Amino acid sequence: MSRSLKKSNQHFQKANSQLPLGVTSNFRYWGEDKTIYVSHAKGARIWDLDDNEYIDYRMGYGPAILGYANEEVDAAARAGMDIGGVFALATEREYTVAEKISKMVPAAELVRFSNSGTEAVMAALRLARAHTGKERHVMVEGGYHGVFSEVLWGVDLDDWDPAQGEPVLGAESMGIPSVLKDLVHIVPLNDANRVEELFKRDADRIAAFLIEPIMGNCCSITADQSYLQDVRALCDKYDVVLIIDEVKTGFRVAKGGVQELMGVRADLCTFAKAVANGYPISVVAGREDIMRQVGNGVLHGGTYTAHSLTLAAAEKTLQIIDETTALDDINRYGISMQNGMSKILNKRGIAHSFVGHPSMGGLFFSDTPPTNYRDWVKTDHAFYEALAPELHDLGVLVEPDSREPFFISTAHDKQCLSDTLNRFEQAVEITLQKKPATNDINVNQ
Ligand code: PMP
Repeated sequence: MSRSLKKSNQHFQKANSQLPLGVTSNFRYWGEDKTIYVSHAKGARIWDLDDNEYIDYRMGYGPAILGYANEEVDAAARAGMDIGGVFALATEREYTVAEKISKMVPAAELVRFSNSGTEAVMAALRLARAHTGKERHVMVEGGYHGVFSEVLWGVDLDDWDPAQGEPVLGAESMGIPSVLKDLVHIVPLNDANRVEELFKRDADRIAAFLIEPIMGNCCSITADQSYLQDVRALCDKYDVVLIIDEVKTGFRVAKGGVQELMGVRADLCTFAKAVANGYPISVVAGREDIMRQVGNGVLHGGTYTAHSLTLAAAEKTLQIIDETTALDDINRYGISMQNGMSKILNKRGIAHSFVGHPSMGGLFFSDTPPTNYRDWVKTDHAFYEALAPELHDLGVLVEPDSREPFFISTAHDKQCLSDTLNRFEQAVEITLQKKPATNDINVNQ
């Protein structure tokens, strides 16, 4: 069976005449004949314009943690809209939601709301600079923190020859001022010695260490707990603000996010995706003394911050996450799916491993998963990249690029699991038949 994307393809031509790449985020463009336009979604399933039905494992890159069109959250959002929207004034619910976040995430002593993950990380970096009086920040190779210029830097590992020294730092988009390069340091994950060396040399200029300990934008490659603890201690020693970016992990991997999972407390942390089940809201939160810089010289705001609709959706979503077994359920589903996939792959002698948290696990076709981005670059992705389009054809929506993990929601039920595993087995078979060369590379490694 090969699905038809006739209507999506036709729509692409129309959309592309009005919108660059025919979409509103570059990551949604999958090619002229592969870009999907959604007609609607419900629970864990999406339907496209051609009425193809998919079990979704992208879930908007994580937000729809309680499933698409969740009735409880949507009813709360509608009631929130009745309040009136935005007023250029505050409402009582900001306190209620902030208090809930502080209860779930102890590091979130004080809270401010923004609209997107990008804005929250932007605010966190500004606060760190204001607090320390320093200007630079450190990021981890392979990390992603949004679409603003200070964080769109990465190392070029494609043409990197370790014999020639460290990889070259470069901007990840055109239009980024080159002067910003002087503000950025990038280190490989899971090597605390590198952080110490850097801090010894440059800590008097470094305001923040920005890290996503489960790299939701790099196949969930995960920081060792001891590495994160070492980074925490080094930040304390060298007066560097530790910003833990929980835009993807927050209210997903544990009620208290990756900080709870790893027992490490951030100075500042950021949240977005799961906060309101897809309604646009984000959070910058952290130590009271740092957060009090807001109002003490630091500007934070925005016309749409704490919109009455998104706040009401956030209140309901957080209540469900806090008071029900939602996170245990998605964790359990993730484990069952991984076990089922392993059985299918093991039966065929296909080496593989999973990383990250089961609620956002990454699948690798190698015995041992990478422990940093340098490893990821060396890992073979050909089998994943051949498998993904087969899964799409069979109605399982995973990211075409192996860098996105599988996002689970509470709407992924038993039927989804058995449908997914049946289709996964078929897709693996088709991939093996179509790709004998890839098969040689990946099987029995
Ligand atoms: N930080 C992380 C860890 C993210 O995953 C993302 C989005 N994928 C962002 C920041 C940026 O969030 P947004 O797309 O809402 O601006």
